[in-house]
Amino acid sequence: MSAKFDISFETSAEIAGGYALLLQASGADLAAGAKVADATGIIARAAKIAGFSAKSTSVLDLVAPEGSAAERLIVVGLGKPEDLTAHEWLKAGGVAASKVNKAEKVVIFVDAPGARVGAKEAANFALGMLLRAYSFDTYKTKKKDEDANSRNGQVVIKIVTAKATEAAEAFKAAQAVAAGVNLARDLVNEPPNVLGPVEFAARARGLEKFGVEVEILTEKEMQKLGMGALLGVAQGSVRPPRLAVMQWKGGKSGETPIAFIGKGVVFDTGGISIKPAAGMEEMKGDMGGAAAVTGLMQVLATRKAAVNAVGIIGLVENMPDGNAQRPGDIVTSMSGQTIEVINTDAEGRLVLCDALWYCNDRFKPKFMINLATLTGAILVALGNVHAGLFSNDDELSAQLTAAGLTTSEKLWRMPLGKEYDKMIDSKFADMKNTGGRHAGSITAAHFLKRFVQETPWAHLDIAGTAMGSPQDEINQSWGSGFGVRLLDELVRANYES
Ligand code: MN
Ligand code: ZN
Repeated sequence: MSAKFDISFETSAEIAGGYALLLQASGADLAAGAKVADATGIIARAAKIAGFSAKSTSVLDLVAPEGSAAERLIVVGLGKPEDLTAHEWLKAGGVAASKVNKAEKVVIFVDAPGARVGAKEAANFALGMLLRAYSFDTYKTKKKDEDANSRNGQVVIKIVTAKATEAAEAFKAAQAVAAGVNLARDLVNEPPNVLGPVEFAARARGLEKFGVEVEILTEKEMQKLGMGALLGVAQGSVRPPRLAVMQWKGGKSGETPIAFIGKGVVFDTGGISIKPAAGMEEMKGDMGGAAAVTGLMQVLATRKAAVNAVGIIGLVENMPDGNAQRPGDIVTSMSGQTIEVINTDAEGRLVLCDALWYCNDRFKPKFMINLATLTGAILVALGNVHAGLFSNDDELSAQLTAAGLTTSEKLWRMPLGKEYDKMIDSKFADMKNTGGRHAGSITAAHFLKRFVQETPWAHLDIAGTAMGSPQDEINQSWGSGFGVRLLDELVRANYES
């Protein structure tokens, strides 16, 4: 069982047992409250002996001496005050969470001298705690010993700050963000037998309770619309495909929406162009784009974002089967353009091209951003540090890049160009679904670009960042929830009226 943090903000709090946690910036004093928490002055002595200099993410962890109000005294370093970005506050919260998850109650003094601590900083600190506290243990029937010691998993946390009222207000939005990120993580972590296209669509339907309008298109409806590319991928699976359309109408009525589209391949065997066995289990995460879009729509609705937003996810399973599509098949997409299927493992773009066309045709949005665990080639280029950004619009690219730096869900813009586009011309159809190994991420982006017309568009290749990235201060989960915080920040910074 993972710790559950019950967080509130106060202007002062009395310590009677439990943990006291203090923040300290490099070269500055301890957070106000040090005297309350540590009447004996042991922190200063211990810091000196241990050579603790309050570097970012460093910790001084002490059992409090006889006569202290607290049982345990913890100091978390913030690094230099001038380097304290929004992400540094998240990291400090993550480190704090890892230290207090066994406590019954904790008082945290967040106002660190030398640092500018407003409502936003305090809320970011608390958001870092919530993101770190996530763990996916639905299928563990035996809990680890350490978890057995935790007190029902409930930890009561009082964060003390002069700006308590404003911080509590900012924390409401932060809680919405944490819940959306954790929803995306859950969806990615769920095993593929549990989360098929129909089950995923039901999870999307669950957003109705937040005020999101949800429509689920069935196979028949997609056939009527002529989505031959998406349906070609789905035909090898006994589980029927779905297309979920989610609408959040928080902006002015009639205002043009912004749109997010996600690849939701609930499991990708590669199809007839089957993948090697080693590591194939990770292909349960091939719906990371759809997970991020669903998580984002929940955040926008929960925090009542003043924007009209559409989220569309294409949900299919890619299986080898007597009825599976073959290399050499030619399918007709909803746009009317024909596609020669060279490799059935390049299926994500076949799903997205119909979802993008449908979105553009029906909603004529301000922009379309699609997210997809699209290519292994993006891992070769960028590892799991940056997601690949491909776009036909410099302004949208700049906004996305800036949101990436703010949230530390980083993007790196990759090139597009006629020479690359030519690589997906086909001998027998309008295009083929792969341009070969070289520039594999770029030719995949060009494939999508052929379905967006003049609409400002960005494609985020999140194959390296949605799952299996290294654990860090705010994420210990295989499914990271990448993209939810990024796109919420994009909307917040640029698109709310
Ligand atoms: Mn594939
Ligand atoms: Zn795939």
